[in-house]
Amino acid sequence: MVVLPGGSVGVRYLILSDIHANLTAFETALDAARGKWDKAVCLGDLVGYGPDPNEVIDRVRALDALTIRGNHDKAVSGLTNPEEFNPAAHAAVLWTREHLQIGNLAYLEKLPKGPIQAGGFSMVHGAVHDEDEYVFGPEEAADGLLDAPTPVVFFGHTHIQGAFTLHGHDVGSLHTKPLLPNQSSTLNLAPNTSYLLNPGSIGQPRDGDTRAAFAIADLENQSVEFWRVPYDVQDVQQRMMQAGLPEPLILRLSFGR
Ligand code: ZN
Repeated sequence: MVVLPGGSVGVRYLILSDIHANLTAFETALDAARGKWDKAVCLGDLVGYGPDPNEVIDRVRALDALTIRGNHDKAVSGLTNPEEFNPAAHAAVLWTREHLQIGNLAYLEKLPKGPIQAGGFSMVHGAVHDEDEYVFGPEEAADGLLDAPTPVVFFGHTHIQGAFTLHGHDVGSLHTKPLLPNQSSTLNLAPNTSYLLNPGSIGQPRDGDTRAAFAIADLENQSVEFWRVPYDVQDVQQRMMQAGLPEPLILRLSFGR
């Protein structure tokens, strides 16, 4: 039996990120993952863009998920200025602030900043050095891979499911996306290799695939499953329309962009 740094033996982690107040996508993902994990973690951006901020926060709290903050959580709770966001994202921040219950606002405000360590891996919202930085490609991943506090780091923020690797001096990227609905693709972790892994976004995928994205990690067995699950996009779009959220945010869910 392998004892991981952090002391978690054989714990399967559900890795969630960028739920963005989309309860329909979140519930569909949880249904698909039922029985396959022991402990949940969340890489930030629980709110912003979507119509269900209170319901999503309540659900994350009920899961007792180890959670770090994202840039939208900071903007909504007043820790940063939302005027730095684009107009649609800014409008969604103001809408979310107006509709959040006071207890949920306080919960967002107190979320810790990444990186923090869970069972043998680290969690960040953006990059290892800067929680607000985007890691889109191997160039941006290199610094984080070199300085990562653990060989496996999970990150979010870009809403693009994928993996970056460092072996020796070589930084690479891996294709992880499962092609069929309700299916996962498994990445088997190699020895002497560091990984920056993005589970993708539950609530607003941006890799041209409308399906909700998440991952399940079993580090004792050196495996990470990358999941994609189709959900009822129109159901969410209708609630966004009723809420008066900006049209571009409603439309982009149809394209996964
Ligand atoms: Zn996000």
